[in-house]
Amino acid sequence: ISFAHFGFDEALLNVIIKHGYSEPTGIQKQAVPVAMSGRDIIGIAKTGSGKTAAFIWPMLIHIMDQEELQKGEGPIGLILAPTRELASQIYTEAKKFAKSYGLRVAAVYGGASKMDQFKELRPGGIEILVGTPGRLIDMVKMKATNFRRVSFLVLDEADRMFDLGFALLFSATFPKKVEILAREVTAEPVRISI
Ligand code: AMP
Repeated sequence: ISFAHFGFDEALLNVIIKHGYSEPTGIQKQAVPVAMSGRDIIGIAKTGSGKTAAFIWPMLIHIMDQEELQKGEGPIGLILAPTRELASQIYTEAKKFAKSYGLRVAAVYGGASKMDQFKELRPGGIEILVGTPGRLIDMVKMKATNFRRVSFLVLDEADRMFDLGFALLFSATFPKKVEILAREVTAEPVRISI
């Protein structure tokens, strides 16, 4: 399987090539076609495996498919991450590829100014939002954003999120309690393990 098999448009294929990626990684080969078909995924892959792009690329295609793109201000793609480090890594990766579509990405996490993050989200809105659970809740409470348009959700390192009272999706390890939750919140998920 090569990038050409993913059903991506020229714009995305060009940025991927521009970044010097010559072929999809293992998790990308397995997860991208499933995500492009609209199925839910429970993915188990380590950091460094290319897991971020495996969900960012289908998310971008999904957002570009939304006819309602102009309406509303809240994100269409939402990514929850357990730490600010991971959130900012995902943000960087998302930015790389979202730029060519003119899609706006924002990241919110603790330890940085709430007011600055508030201003980044409003006005005008964004299409992709990455954040840690606590700060995302703060932003919704402050009415900086809302999740009404969200139709593509990723829970990165879900096993760690579980400790914070949240649950699952792409995780490097997969304890039993997360698996039970995974079954509850996903619709007939496809399991992928690298
Ligand atoms: P991740 O596992 O998401 O943290 O990604 C690890 C690194 O691999 C990041 O710097 C990505 O930009 C890079 N990467 C992702 N996909 C590919 C690919 N197909 N070929 C080469 N590098 C990649």
